[in-house]
Amino acid sequence: MSKRQKREIESKGVRINFKMLVNYGYSDGSGDYFITIDTDKCNACGACVGVCPAQIFEVVDEDPYDPMNEQPQTTVIPEKKNKLKYECERCKPSGNDRPALPCVSVCVSEAISHSW
Ligand code: SF4
Ligand code: SF4
Repeated sequence: MSKRQKREIESKGVRINFKMLVNYGYSDGSGDYFITIDTDKCNACGACVGVCPAQIFEVVDEDPYDPMNEQPQTTVIPEKKNKLKYECERCKPSGNDRPALPCVSVCVSEAISHSW
């Protein structure tokens, strides 16, 4: 079901418990390295694009995973998704005092999460 279909149904007074989580990344012998974007929460504001020092994100005109969704959508750049562990290292120093991640902090919609 696309976001547009969901909105149409909800406009008729029906609430749908529906989440669209898109996972970008990979697993290897050392762990799981995924960034998840909740496309139901993301409004494509672009704040994560501007704050990410590794230029992981981009806003595209159409949702590549939902052809029925005509709204802009934020995604992880394809060339980056298989290198996330290394690309994100600059924000994830080893040790217990890991600072808040810029991409997660800037997203007021709480649409971004990381698996590691
Ligand atoms: S900051 Fe959050 S709401 Fe804005 S584009 Fe990024 S994921 Fe979407
Ligand atoms: S943790 Fe840092 S490098 Fe990784 S996506 Fe977020 S802002 Fe970009």
